[in-house]
Amino acid sequence: MGKNSKMAADYYSVLGVSRDATGEEIKRAYRKLARELHPDVNPDPDTQERFKQVTAAYEVLSDPSKRQMYDLGGDPRGGQGGGFGGAPGFDFGDIMDAFFGQGASGSRGPRSRVRRGQDALIQLEVDLSEAVFGATRDITVDTAVNCETCEGEGTAPGTDRMTCTLCKGAGEVQTVQRSFLGQVMTTRPCPQCGGFGNVVVTPCPECAGDGRVRTRRTLTIKVPAGVETGTRIQLQGKSEVGQGGGPAGDLYVEVVVREHPVFTRSGDDLLCQVKIPITAAALGTSIDIDTLDGPETISLRPGIQSGYVQTLKGKGAGRLRSSGRGDLHVEVIVMTPTKLDAQQEELLRQFANLRGEEDRQSVVADAQESGIFSRIRDAFK
Ligand SMILES: [Zn+2]
Ligand SMILES: [Zn+2]
Repeated sequence: MGKNSKMAADYYSVLGVSRDATGEEIKRAYRKLARELHPDVNPDPDTQERFKQVTAAYEVLSDPSKRQMYDLGGDPRGGQGGGFGGAPGFDFGDIMDAFFGQGASGSRGPRSRVRRGQDALIQLEVDLSEAVFGATRDITVDTAVNCETCEGEGTAPGTDRMTCTLCKGAGEVQTVQRSFLGQVMTTRPCPQCGGFGNVVVTPCPECAGDGRVRTRRTLTIKVPAGVETGTRIQLQGKSEVGQGGGPAGDLYVEVVVREHPVFTRSGDDLLCQVKIPITAAALGTSIDIDTLDGPETISLRPGIQSGYVQTLKGKGAGRLRSSGRGDLHVEVIVMTPTKLDAQQEELLRQFANLRGEEDRQSVVADAQESGIFSRIRDAFK
């Protein structure tokens, strides 16, 4: 019997209520704890374990016959000594339905006024450098928070809900109809209380009975390095709270990365192009680039070909799901002169003559060589 008496103490202390607590007090205590410990709000394993214990305690103490059995030292949860949760017949879904209103159609008894808050999606524009390095941004959102005047209950302070006179708190009414098969009994939600089993007689003046008030608040968002357009950042429990003091929904922040005038993105890598004149390509040159990390100088050997790619390791975007950074690829484009004056044309003809290229129209690149270039070019598409 030692085990049972220990469990008897546990159920009441788990909910933080006294042994003579009323049904309403037990419900209130559970609702308050469920709001804090709900997996949507707080997914860490310890909290979930507590949530299971709290829910198991509520399952027993909210049911008058189970509570009586429990008070007498029995175990209404199927003789699973010593453990909370996982017992046969422990219908977690039912109890959640009763409190959070999902799939309540099949369940019996009054509907709960408690609802989980809606999730929300907002967009956040960031610069390419913010996406590459990560950033901290403040955003302002319009949302709903618990009404402090009524603590989410929706009733004016000092007043309580009144048990519905039509359904006597059951939340449903039965009608008997005659048909050729005999008498047919149908059950439907009570029209007077909307199935809640009780009515708010004096709504809270602050929130008009909704239990929530609209507000504008500022949230600080950590944008991780490596985000791309379409990346969603989930902020658990940062959306509006639910009706009747239900847990808050999640806020999703969808990132939109502004276009950059120089750099484009390919996965974790950044790409850019630099254009050099044909003379610089032949004679060799150095080019200055303002990378997102600061100025860089790249030396190009004489005879560089158009399409040459210089890779700067680790100068790309941060990796969203691992450490380190991608690379920056700089593609060199050799500009063929288009408008030649008479003197330039003459010099080029002399140049061609010196190189024996006057009659040479073209050479076909060998397959291996063109293969390499097409692979590099593919990386830019
Ligand atoms: Zn209120
Ligand atoms: Zn009713």
